[in-house]
Amino acid sequence: MSSVVYNQVSKFYADGTKAVDALDLQIAEGEFMVIVGPSGCGKTTALRMAAGLEDISSGELSIGGKVVNALEPRDRDIAMVFQNYALYPHMSVFENIAFPLENQKLSREEIRKRVEGAAAILGLEEHLGRRPKNLSGGQRQRVAMGRAIVRRPKAFLMDEPLSNLDAKLRVQMRAEITRLQRQLGVTTLYVTHDQVEAMTMGHRIAVMRKGVLQQVGTPLELYERP
Ligand code: ADP
Ligand code: ADP
Repeated sequence: MSSVVYNQVSKFYADGTKAVDALDLQIAEGEFMVIVGPSGCGKTTALRMAAGLEDISSGELSIGGKVVNALEPRDRDIAMVFQNYALYPHMSVFENIAFPLENQKLSREEIRKRVEGAAAILGLEEHLGRRPKNLSGGQRQRVAMGRAIVRRPKAFLMDEPLSNLDAKLRVQMRAEITRLQRQLGVTTLYVTHDQVEAMTMGHRIAVMRKGVLQQVGTPLELYERP
């Protein structure tokens, strides 16, 4: 079971800002949920709490049926993809993808198998020996995703992963992420301010405004009752 469940989750920052207000949201196993809303609505904070990068002020957050409020990021069995996908420039594509496996007790052979498996899914087989600077923007994005999937996490957390790409590539990567998510069947929480992205990618969409969840529904449901 790898659902992600927010139960009355709130976030107050030290300066008193109420960034997320009693969020109730259930992302089912294998579901692609998009949180959409304008800048400052609290969507990044909501995601960062699931990732363990931001403390939860009140409420309970569960991943895979386990309350994670007090767990370190590395113990949460999640993978995160950011807009700045921070690849290591001095490492090859292979080493970048393999990096999250370094601290696990895996044989060289098992690491090689996993990295090659991830590369095959992402169409990177031919590029494993290259450095990031010799890749296109789309290829770099794929390496970042390879690094995320190689550990076989319970959930993907993505924060505006496409916002640094040009318009054409963005449309292409939307389709690729959708395909990858379906192929792996991995529970996914994806944050964006882009409504078209939300509508084309999400199984369901959670609309936030000023820290408050406004509505949740499939693209069709939201489109029919705007
Ligand atoms: P985005 O709108 O893309 O989520 P922002 O530009 O609002 O990003 O925020 C960038 C960084 O600054 C984030 O790490 C966020 O936590 C932090 N930040 C945003 N607003 C404040 C604030 N009022 N006080 C302190 N840090 C903030
Ligand atoms: P979004 O991702 O939708 O742009 P955020 O979650 O980044 O929204 O921010 C939600 C609210 O919390 C905003 O008002 C933002 O300024 C504020 N905020 C974000 N990070 C911090 C921080 N580190 N300290 C104080 N306020 C913050």
